[in-house]
Amino acid sequence: MPAAGYRGRFAPSPTGDLHLGSLLAAVASYLEARCRGGEWLVRIEDLDPPRTVPGAEGRILGVLAAHGFEWDGPVWRQSERQAVYETAFGQLREAGLIYPCACSRKEVASIARAGVDGPVYPGTCRHGLLAGRMSRAWRLHVDAGCVAFDDAVQGVCKQDLATDVGDFVIKRADGLFAYQLAVVVDDALQGVTDVVRGADLLDSTPRQCHLQQCLGIVPVRYAHVPVLANEHGEKLSKQTLASPLQPEHAALNLWLALCYLGQCPPATLAQGTVADCWQWARAHWSLDRVPRQRSVVWQSDVGMDMRCDLTNDRD
Ligand SMILES: [Zn+2]
Repeated sequence: MPAAGYRGRFAPSPTGDLHLGSLLAAVASYLEARCRGGEWLVRIEDLDPPRTVPGAEGRILGVLAAHGFEWDGPVWRQSERQAVYETAFGQLREAGLIYPCACSRKEVASIARAGVDGPVYPGTCRHGLLAGRMSRAWRLHVDAGCVAFDDAVQGVCKQDLATDVGDFVIKRADGLFAYQLAVVVDDALQGVTDVVRGADLLDSTPRQCHLQQCLGIVPVRYAHVPVLANEHGEKLSKQTLASPLQPEHAALNLWLALCYLGQCPPATLAQGTVADCWQWARAHWSLDRVPRQRSVVWQSDVGMDMRCDLTNDRD
């Protein structure tokens, strides 16, 4: 445990460049950690080598530094931590909490009903593989009943894993460990006490709470801040053509992030320095002002109230 009793983190995937949506989660987790006198770590979630974009990690760290973020300790990479996930996997296997599954994604999709995050696994292999079937993935047993946690932004969240998700994959058919396992193990081993991240991960949090329990890990506290979405409700991402953060507009980017996070920074900050932005933000940050929504709509046009005093051009 850190001396200050608070350790936060930002954990981007190097599948592309950071955009304004990613900045919201980074700013919120950073300010919450610093304003509580805590530490703030950066972890690269490169668990899935085929999705890793060459050079993205370097650009992410460079953009964070250009925006004035200062992280504590070394940057961890999930790609270097397979042995640790293997140990956790062994612990779950030893405890009889996981089982091999022979079903392909297509087979599951053809018989399962839709859940909160894809099809609900119907439990086909729960009591053993059918004759002649080969194990592909490993799944974790879930029990009926609600998993609940009190999110610092979104309030009390509940999910019945058995009906909303089903037994979920811990080790994938391609041999890679699932995100759910890696994130829980890493947060525990890094001594993270508080996870502040985008609300797109709200629905996977009950799976992580369940895994913490299965592994005997002390639960972390969660705060899920809204993600930036376009007018169709789609999260800003590489797929929705969100533009990469430009370091030369760092102060403006930080100011925009603070606006979307409900902090109402003065308009003059948008034209100030990065240091001015952080100084104001650290003096005024309040998690209570963050909109209690899963998403906020990204306004590409100048003219909305919070940008009405903006005079310099984003280009
Ligand atoms: Zn199966």
